[in-house]
Amino acid sequence: MKIIRKKTRPVKVGSLTIGGGAPISIQSMVTTPAREVTATVEQIQRLTEIGCDIVRVACPTEDDAKLLGKIKSKIKIPLVADIHFHYKLALIALDEGIDKLRLNPGNIGKKDQVAEIVRKAKRLKIPIRIGVNGGSLEKDLREKYGPTPEALVESAGRHVRILEELDFEDIVISIKTSDVGNMIAAYRLASRKFDYPLHLGVTEAGTLMRGSVYNAVGIGTLLEEGIGDTLRVSLTADPVEEVKVGKMILESLGLRKGPRVISCPSCGRAEVDVIRIAEEVERRAMKLKKPLTISVLGCVVNGPGEAHESDFGITCGKGKGMIYVNGEQKRTVTAEHLVDELFREIESAVGEKKSQS
Ligand code: SF4
Repeated sequence: MKIIRKKTRPVKVGSLTIGGGAPISIQSMVTTPAREVTATVEQIQRLTEIGCDIVRVACPTEDDAKLLGKIKSKIKIPLVADIHFHYKLALIALDEGIDKLRLNPGNIGKKDQVAEIVRKAKRLKIPIRIGVNGGSLEKDLREKYGPTPEALVESAGRHVRILEELDFEDIVISIKTSDVGNMIAAYRLASRKFDYPLHLGVTEAGTLMRGSVYNAVGIGTLLEEGIGDTLRVSLTADPVEEVKVGKMILESLGLRKGPRVISCPSCGRAEVDVIRIAEEVERRAMKLKKPLTISVLGCVVNGPGEAHESDFGITCGKGKGMIYVNGEQKRTVTAEHLVDELFREIESAVGEKKSQS
């Protein structure tokens, strides 16, 4: 299946491009404020290692904003400052060398303050993400429409107009709500109305499992229609999980290449703990860079067939399993050593050594 992506303007964010047909980037946000530099950098490094492309940091105070440059000097991916409606913080963040601002110009208040931020962002070539959120919709729009897709898109349009009137078009737009149906409808509407790149996400989606499912449905539906240029899977969980889920959403639609673990659901025929083995394989495979397929099957009913179609595979038997490489039987290993031996084969074949940790 080939997805035809909607054409949007390209917006440069540090070394990356959002929109204009660029690969769909994955974003996340650290859970620490910028002033906790060591903890923030450590989180960003974990996010980078798992495949995060762009990271956002909250800057609730001037002290936070003043430490953005220090954070940026220690990380490898573009840094976005979230300054909400604090005009001074936006100016400081720009001076600190951030790569993108998350800011709604209509929330800043004074026109001259917005103009000052926009002038500086333009001079430094720093884009702005307008982020409309169902929970903070303007009162008049809520009264006119309720928290509907039309209200969310009209709100985004107001912020866009403010920037356009200041001759600023380096814009990315997000229109998030916790209701998946409304989120999908809002982005469909936004994609007809704007040609700026869209940042997809279901906001306040919930904890790991519920949030992953809601985001997969919302983001996945839109991506399949060709809508969306970057995404964040919001989860009440370690942000590393957000990146993992984001990667899987893209991989499921063929929009990003990555390792894929094919595993059976297990049943009464299995004579080993297939669930434990598959989870361990998934955990280690997540760190592989190459787009390998690895099958983990509980018995010979489907095991050899799936292994034949995979780069690497395990087919389990009673207390042991067969390892396959390129569809060929390699050797039998006891159940407790199956995963280690499988990854030994993977590492020797593809030269990736980082799958153990
Ligand atoms: S592969 Fe075997 S163990 Fe797994 S679900 Fe199918 S029959 Fe059951």
